[in-house]
Amino acid sequence: MEKQLENFTKRCRRSGLRITPQRIAVYEELMQSKVHPSADMVYRKVKKKLPNISLDTVNRTLYTLAEMGAAYVVEGSGQAKRFDADEQKHYHFRCIKCNKIVDFYHKPFDNIQIPEELKKKFTILRKSVYLEGICNSCKAKVEQRKSNSQFQHELAKEPENHSSKP
Ligand SMILES: [Zn+2]
Ligand SMILES: [Zn+2]
Repeated sequence: MEKQLENFTKRCRRSGLRITPQRIAVYEELMQSKVHPSADMVYRKVKKKLPNISLDTVNRTLYTLAEMGAAYVVEGSGQAKRFDADEQKHYHFRCIKCNKIVDFYHKPFDNIQIPEELKKKFTILRKSVYLEGICNSCKAKVEQRKSNSQFQHELAKEPENHSSKP
């Protein structure tokens, strides 16, 4: 963790960025967080250390970190962007129900080749595999609700059957 922070300050200098308490605090929070937080989540934590910081500053700092390569935006759309500063190679699964983001690693995903025509069209900074779906605990909730409503339904149409087994 110390080492990562040291690399970060080096990176700031290389990018010609001042090392401000705000930048350090935001980076530290992101680095320690395991939940792939949104700007708002980082803001609420950092505010405890730096009461004068604004959400706007946190937001801009997160994008600055992303631009200099110290963090990145987790894939997925339609909601508040989530950030990650974990530099270990890894991939993400996001549950579309509870928005939990889970890290995983699968070696074959490291060897995905980028098509030549895309390389001509874009400068690829990062490639990743992103999975989206429903996590097991959300799935269990859905199934429970389903079987509950089925049960209610059966109770309604067939009043209790007292016949004994043959
Ligand atoms: Zn879930
Ligand atoms: Zn991650």
